[in-house]
Amino acid sequence: MRRKLAAGNWKMNGTAAALAELETLTAKGAPENAQVLICPPSTLISRAKDVAGDIISIGGQDCHANQSGAHTGDVSAEMLKDAGATHVILGHSERREDHNERDEDVRIKAKTAWDAGLVTVICVGESLSEREADNTLDIIGGQLAGSIPDGATGENLVVAYEPIWAIGTGKVPTLSQIGDVHDFMRARLERRFGEGVGRTVPLLYGGSVKPGNAPEIFAVSNVDGALVGGASLKANDFGAIIAALDAS
Ligand code: PEP
Repeated sequence: MRRKLAAGNWKMNGTAAALAELETLTAKGAPENAQVLICPPSTLISRAKDVAGDIISIGGQDCHANQSGAHTGDVSAEMLKDAGATHVILGHSERREDHNERDEDVRIKAKTAWDAGLVTVICVGESLSEREADNTLDIIGGQLAGSIPDGATGENLVVAYEPIWAIGTGKVPTLSQIGDVHDFMRARLERRFGEGVGRTVPLLYGGSVKPGNAPEIFAVSNVDGALVGGASLKANDFGAIIAALDAS
């Protein structure tokens, strides 16, 4: 059985006041059939962990490739872990774009995160022009090969398919487009890491997931959950997405 995961990415949103939303979400209790993860800004990780306890897992949104050192303003995987994180998102398209992160950078960060004991949520996704040029699967295949280090397992890796054009736009691929990419990712992971590992890695869809579209997205084969931006900021919206995943 693969783990189902509802992951929320708060991005650069939230001060201490935002923890009230996490408190509301935590009060709903743990879903029976799914794990819930919130990735707040790193300034909130420690306090978020105190609020979420064992009900909701807490993660970082990025970490440095090195374990420590002279990297002003950066956060290491070990620091995230020490603050209470169990997961870290890596290779989000906003990191790839704003910080010129390449697949190789993501791969090195992932290795460092694994060494620190974190589960990595590695993001891949095509741009609109790549989709329109019918290059989606080539792009996704290249990103999977380049961004995931050797040594992946169903325990240390989660992959999130996030078409860049669907993030924060309200646009969502068709269910068959999502299914095609997820089936392709599953096949690629099985081919590289063996069937036993490949079939246990949770595959998330991300990009404008809302309470209204979550049930149909979770019904797509090889979709094991969602990485959610905007709708994860409100406990009621994210709670409805979690409930849809739990029921799927
Ligand atoms: C994201 O940034 O990972 C994301 C999926 O955002 P949104 O849900 O707002 O589209």
